Amino acid sequence: MGRKILITGGAGFIGSHLCRALLSRGDHVLCVDNYITGARENIEDCLPHENFSLREHDISEPMYVKGGLDWVLHFASIASPKEYLAYPIKTLKSGLLGTHNCLGIAKEKGARFLLASTSEVYGDPARHPQPEEYWGNVNPIGERSCYDESKRAAEALTYAYYRQHKVQVSAVRIFNTYGPHMQVDDGRVVSNFIVQALRGQKVTVYGKGSQTRSFCYVDDLARGILAVMETEYAPPLNIGNPQEYTIEELARQVCVLTGSGSALEYAPLPADDPVRRRPDISKIQSLCGWQPEVSLQDGLQRTIEYFKNKLSKR
Ligand code: UDP
Repeated sequence: MGRKILITGGAGFIGSHLCRALLSRGDHVLCVDNYITGARENIEDCLPHENFSLREHDISEPMYVKGGLDWVLHFASIASPKEYLAYPIKTLKSGLLGTHNCLGIAKEKGARFLLASTSEVYGDPARHPQPEEYWGNVNPIGERSCYDESKRAAEALTYAYYRQHKVQVSAVRIFNTYGPHMQVDDGRVVSNFIVQALRGQKVTVYGKGSQTRSFCYVDDLARGILAVMETEYAPPLNIGNPQEYTIEELARQVCVLTGSGSALEYAPLPADDPVRRRPDISKIQSLCGWQPEVSLQDGLQRTIEYFKNKLSKR
């Protein structure tokens, strides 16, 4: 029969991969997106599917769904620093009002709810690697706070519904993820570096490039998220690839894999840019047996192919 699943941000980067994975298992998917950072072309191949329906809607406004739902997956959010700095209020609204609306739907339908949370709840972490118990180091009024604090409040709302209304919930704290369906100009490091290298432009390393991130390929992430949903585990879980690289190492690897002769160009570091980030994934590993399988090199190669194809059509 398959489950009935509402996914917000379903035409976005991660949401679109989840839509495809759910349809291929036989689930029914109601995809909601306002196309601020999502795109119809990300779900083009889902559109003809008989179990797929699409609604253009901004989830920070209330939404009504007919019939039953088994799962509500809340992925709608601007997630790239460049874009949330440009739209801080919209970012806060999808984290606060959007999460509230989705929890209301999950409560009414008796559905299991998943919050797409973020490693940004740890801010510029004073503890490394970051376990779920770490409470974080976030500037509550800084430029990034529209994202960090709205996701922290979204987690608080999620667990308030869990405690007060007994809604079955889960939250995944997603660490840096990359792959096909990122936007060409979303400003995130992997898409920026690949697009710059493919265009023969200078690759813009912010700061000294000694800051670190840990990069997870989107297929690994989607598989992990679906594994979490099959459990009844409620507390937040880190999800990401614990292999950590400096941003300069990433820039050099992208130049090698694209065969680009691009030089690196050093630019100022954005405000409150975290110095180090690496997930402790022992909880999700022991709960679901999940761990990432795609190496950075393989994932980058697949992503480079995607962007090559995309840029050739522009
Ligand atoms: N970054 C960079 N050059 C770029 C884009 C990003 O050096 O063109 C750096 C950014 O300062 C940060 C890291 O890459 O240290 C990851 O940035 P991203 O925007 O992808 O996400 P974040 O992890 O900061 O949320």
